[in-house]
Amino acid sequence: MDERSGPQVERQSEALSSDGATGGWQATVLTLFPEMFPGPLGLSLAGKALNSGVWSLKTLDIRDFARDKHRSVDDTPFGGGTGMVMRPDVVDAALAAVEDRPGPRLYLSPRGRRFDQARAKALAAEPGAVIVCGRYEGLDERVIAARDLEEVSLGDFVLSGGEPAALAMMDAVIRLLPGVMGAADGLAEESFEEGLLEYPLYTQPRDWNGRTVPEVLTSGHHANVKAWRRREAETITRERRPDLWARYCRNKDQAEGR
Ligand code: SAH
Repeated sequence: MDERSGPQVERQSEALSSDGATGGWQATVLTLFPEMFPGPLGLSLAGKALNSGVWSLKTLDIRDFARDKHRSVDDTPFGGGTGMVMRPDVVDAALAAVEDRPGPRLYLSPRGRRFDQARAKALAAEPGAVIVCGRYEGLDERVIAARDLEEVSLGDFVLSGGEPAALAMMDAVIRLLPGVMGAADGLAEESFEEGLLEYPLYTQPRDWNGRTVPEVLTSGHHANVKAWRRREAETITRERRPDLWARYCRNKDQAEGR
C-alpha cells in the first residue's frame, strides 16, 4: 500500500512493516468482523485524518487464531445457560500477535467502567490503543485476567457486539487528536469540557417560522454573550444532569476556596 496516499489501514493478512510507525495514533482492533472497520471512521473528519496519517488502523480477525479445523472461536458456557462464550486460548493468541502494538489493552464490555470525555482525552494522549470487541455472551473471564484487559463500557445497554462501541469510542478519541478539528476553541466550549452540557446553538435564519434567535446573540456584545451562554449551560446541566451539576458545584466551590 502506498503509505502516502492510501488510508492507513492494515489487515492482519498484510505484514506490519517495521517502519509502520506513522507517528499518528495507532488503533489496533481485534474483532470477528474486520469488515466493520474503519466503517464510518473512513469518512468525514476521521476519514481525512486516517488518509493523512493522523491515525492508523490495524484490524485482526480473531477467527484467524482458531486452531481446529472448524475455526471455532466460541463454545458453550461451563455451568450451563444460554449463548456462547469466546474461547480464552483463541483471544489470547490474537492478543499475542499484537504485543508490539502500543497503548492500553481495552475490552469493550457492559461491565466496564463507563467511557467518558475524560477517558477519551486520556486515550488521545496515548500512542494508541488495542481494542478487543466481544461477540456472543462475551470473553472467557480467564483471558481478561491473564491479559489484564481494562473493561470499558459505552453505557448501560447491551449491544450485540463490541464493534459499534469500539467505533464510537475511537470517534471520540480521534476528533481530539491534533489537527483533526479545525479550531481548538470549538473543542474548549463543548459539552463536558467544563463539566457542563453545551448551551443552545442558533444559526440563520434569524426568524424561522416565528421562532427568533435570543437577542443577546445578535447584540455583538461578547461579554454578554459569554455570560448568557454560561447561564444557559448551567440551567441545562442542572435540569438534565443532576449528577454532572453536583460535581460542577463541588469543583466550583473548591476552586473558589469554599
Ligand atoms: N453477556 C454480556 C453481554 C454480551 S454482548 C452481559 O450480559 O454483560 C456481546 C458483546 O458486545 C460484549 O462482549 C461486548 O464486547 C459488546 N458490548 C455489549 N454492550 C456493550 C456496552 N454497553 N459497551 C461496550 N461493549 C458492549
